[in-house]
Amino acid sequence: MSIPRTIKQTATLIKKREVSPTELTDLFLERISVQDEKINSYITVWKKAAVEAALMAEKEISRGNYLGPLHGVPIALKDIFVTKNSRTTCGSKMLENFVAPYDSTVAEKLIASGSIILGKNNMDEFAMGSSNETSYFGPVKNPWDTDRVPGGSSGGSAAATAANLCIASVGTDTGGSIRQPGSLCGIVGMKPTYGRVSRFGMIAFASSLDQAGPLTKTVEDTAIILSSIAGHDPLDSTSVNLPTVDYASALSSDIKGLRVGIPKEYFVSGMDPEVEKSVREAIVELETLGAEIVEISLPHSRYAVSTYYIIAPSEASSNLARYDGVRYTYRCEEPESLRDLFFRSRSEGFGDEVKRRIMLGTYALSTGYYDAYYLKAQKVRTLIIRDFDRAWEEVDVIASATSPETAFRIGEKAEDPLKMYLSDILTIPCNIAGLPGISVPCGFSSEKLPIGLQIIGKPFDEQTVLNIAYAYEQSTKWYEKEVASLG
Ligand code: GLN
Repeated sequence: MSIPRTIKQTATLIKKREVSPTELTDLFLERISVQDEKINSYITVWKKAAVEAALMAEKEISRGNYLGPLHGVPIALKDIFVTKNSRTTCGSKMLENFVAPYDSTVAEKLIASGSIILGKNNMDEFAMGSSNETSYFGPVKNPWDTDRVPGGSSGGSAAATAANLCIASVGTDTGGSIRQPGSLCGIVGMKPTYGRVSRFGMIAFASSLDQAGPLTKTVEDTAIILSSIAGHDPLDSTSVNLPTVDYASALSSDIKGLRVGIPKEYFVSGMDPEVEKSVREAIVELETLGAEIVEISLPHSRYAVSTYYIIAPSEASSNLARYDGVRYTYRCEEPESLRDLFFRSRSEGFGDEVKRRIMLGTYALSTGYYDAYYLKAQKVRTLIIRDFDRAWEEVDVIASATSPETAFRIGEKAEDPLKMYLSDILTIPCNIAGLPGISVPCGFSSEKLPIGLQIIGKPFDEQTVLNIAYAYEQSTKWYEKEVASLG
């Protein structure tokens, strides 16, 4: 049997009883134990729990109780979603031994869909980063070239999916953390509209920007996972009460007449010419498929990164105040006083990037600076949202590169936070405005590194975003290109 790569292929094999969930799970656990030494995409592998879940799925299916396309399919979860049977670290020493007493809604829904969770994927500490180098559990390697980063912060999810150490994974995206690693690892990654997926049990980084979404090999698989995790949740007041859609059944590659906006500001200076070339070719392809290409302007785009680096750290500094050494976190040894307990637990438990964000955020929120930084950033956020509102009067979706460059070398930007922050220049505006966005593979560089095309849509119009990506994917079939064997 050749190992299936997509949810669709796996579901077909399972339904025809050509492969059983237990065989599949054993196979993936074996692949992880042999190959993940080179990639480091998992923090915790659920060896026992996965086998038990597979046995359950097998029994249910043989009783005729087939739950749908995820039933019996081995997937993984970013280690930011709390799960009650195993630790959830968020890539941090602070939570190295933290076991939540409940499941996040995303985990609960995926389990209820019958999927088999193989384990928890490596990530940048508290989802802060674009390269997976800030993880307390060591960097993740890009399966296309193990000297390079997979992107971040959902780098473990993207690398594991690309290397087929799971069929698919679910990550989170605050400023690009699903789409950018998706792009750098040559797979599909989607951030839904803010409010589409419940954030309950998803460890908070920046609450007004965080959103969960799929990382998969194909657009159809993304649609399948999105249908499973989307929906209103009374446990998250920001999740919206809209009817859930079966995105996969509604997929259509007929994109004739759809208007695709190309923001002139998104071909940024310093962009890798090979990335620009592939993206421009992809736009031509969309036109060939019947879409109408319209040049648009999003004039406040150039303020997006600065705005994000005020709002996200401000929210982070507040969210991360709970890690105090008293409750569920790492605690320093022999504290001399309460102050010493807070001070040393936080100094020892957090890594440098997390501390940098807490300091930036605390500064931006402090008396005397609040108006100049935080309040101003919120006003600029409104201007950026208005740019998009105006664009939607002219176009149905917006297309651009996902990342201005391909995967960079491990260590290349680690010492220069500003350079690192610019990795997300094309993905951040989407979070600021709460819009849905997808990255779909659109080619390879001369160094054989993947390139991603980003499609951004109107609020809650995931279906059009998926359809454009699907039409493009089906006509170009970049997804057929697999990572060469890792040996
Ligand atoms: N790279 C961005 C940051 O470091 C985005 C992270 C994310 O989306 N979680 O904040």
